Amino acid sequence: ASGFIGKRKGSINDHYIFSTKLGSGAFGSVRLGIHKTTNQKRAIKTIQKSNISEDMREKTQFFNEVDILRQTDHPNIVRLYEFYEDDENYHLVLEYVTGGELFDYIIKSKHLSENIAANFMKQILSAIAYCHRNNIVHRDLKPENLLLDKEGPDATLKIIDFGTSAIFDPKKQMTHKYGTAYYIAPEVLSKNYNEKCDLWSCGVILYIILSGRPPFYGKNDKEILRSVLEGHYSVQGAEWAKISPEAKSLISRMLQFNPKDRITSEQALNHPWILALSETNTSNI
Ligand code: ADP
Ligand code: MG
Repeated sequence: ASGFIGKRKGSINDHYIFSTKLGSGAFGSVRLGIHKTTNQKRAIKTIQKSNISEDMREKTQFFNEVDILRQTDHPNIVRLYEFYEDDENYHLVLEYVTGGELFDYIIKSKHLSENIAANFMKQILSAIAYCHRNNIVHRDLKPENLLLDKEGPDATLKIIDFGTSAIFDPKKQMTHKYGTAYYIAPEVLSKNYNEKCDLWSCGVILYIILSGRPPFYGKNDKEILRSVLEGHYSVQGAEWAKISPEAKSLISRMLQFNPKDRITSEQALNHPWILALSETNTSNI
């Protein structure tokens, strides 16, 4: 069971005390919430209705997040426990993931060893393979949306932010443009894509984890997107000299420009680099 209890009536303030702000986004904020009777800590994602009422499309997006999270049950996907609605807000009561964003962990470490990278990538791919098997596409995979349950190389990763995810029809292409410049797949920019767009984002993430730099870059979003549409990236710099050919092979399989040639999540989980390195115990590194 996913542990989802259901939609609650009444005020969230009757049940939770709001504490520190954990993050903020386009439609609201994420705060630490303490359950009044059990003292359990939760991350509560609050979306102000006034922020979305003008645009029904965004409202639909938000309900996607609830609908999709209540269906998922995977160790590498954040759990949704409860959902509240009051006059002003929607509140998602989520599992509190305490180790921070993968984004901050990469910045702190500059780049990660291949063992740690493979261990992290295996967890991301495991969750994405689960999503794709269940016809769920995430569409905004990036290190800000990957949380660590504790700080350190042996952390468990949790995918969050299903705000732009969707249930897809395997027989149909998708046409809505969602994502973030550095990580977006070229075919999403052309508004004709399928779930393989998540694998492109995984390729960008792996490139960044190993080198500390993005494969496609520019001074602003427009320039970054132009670089994505060209699809050329380099693994020639000094930071790549010590990186194994197998790691570069997986990156190139994920950053295939044509989604038909791109590796699937299931195939990526069985890529030799993932199989060989992710088994190694990372706790002593
Ligand atoms: P947005 O759609 O606004 O990007 P997210 O769901 O990505 O919203 O949340 C924004 C930020 O809040 C995240 O990047 C993370 O730092 C923090 N956050 C979100 N969910 C949790 C959680 N379950 N546990 C801890 N921190 C969280
Ligand atoms: Mg986010």
